Amino acid sequence: MRDVAPGFPRPGDRVLVATRSIHKLRELRELLADFPLDLVSLDEMGIEDEVTETGRTFETNARLKATAYARLSGLPTLADDSGLEVDALGGGPGVRTRRYAGERASDRENNAKLLRALRGLPPEQRRAHYVCVLALALPRQDGSIARLLTARGTCRGRIALSPKGAGGFGYDPIFEPASERPGGRTLGQWSAAEKNRISHRARAARGMARRLAG
Ligand code: IMP
Repeated sequence: MRDVAPGFPRPGDRVLVATRSIHKLRELRELLADFPLDLVSLDEMGIEDEVTETGRTFETNARLKATAYARLSGLPTLADDSGLEVDALGGGPGVRTRRYAGERASDRENNAKLLRALRGLPPEQRRAHYVCVLALALPRQDGSIARLLTARGTCRGRIALSPKGAGGFGYDPIFEPASERPGGRTLGQWSAAEKNRISHRARAARGMARRLAG
């Protein structure tokens, strides 16, 4: 177990994870397992309020979610804003990754729309990277925010020609990490442990862990 620096959540403290994604929650629990923190989700806390992601950057949206839910709950709050930037789409869908094929689009619909958008492009024109920004907001007793930390991680790769594998979530079945040859395994075919070594979320979590460490 790693110690937590003074001023940060103490061992055993609850930290709210501002997400409704069970996949993000599971990965963050695995990635921060070295810290003796009790990570609880919005649903576990019975928090039903929604925060609209109005920002134009991952940083803005992560800060927005962390501060809003820290104020609401009074708990130290960790938010994850993440998505996919595709070179051939000028960096899109970016902050619109979750809503790419529509407000309530499923992962399958989002993947299908992206494959259609890149139809006919060879591997070297299918380059993309995941981005994850984590924000940790530490509230005072009066609800104001005492500290707000952010950490960013990216993961380079390319969009596959068709979906493969049932692991991971979101765009993982069509994302080939850069270490794979074109047509090689997608993140949907990697184990959770392999993904946690190189993912955008893993890199952001390592950055956050360096600040948390005592
Ligand atoms: P957010 O909930 O607004 O942060 O949206 C994140 C979007 O990016 C969702 O569509 C996710 O499926 C996608 N995404 C983020 N991280 C990952 C990942 O690790 N694997 C696959 N898709 C991801």
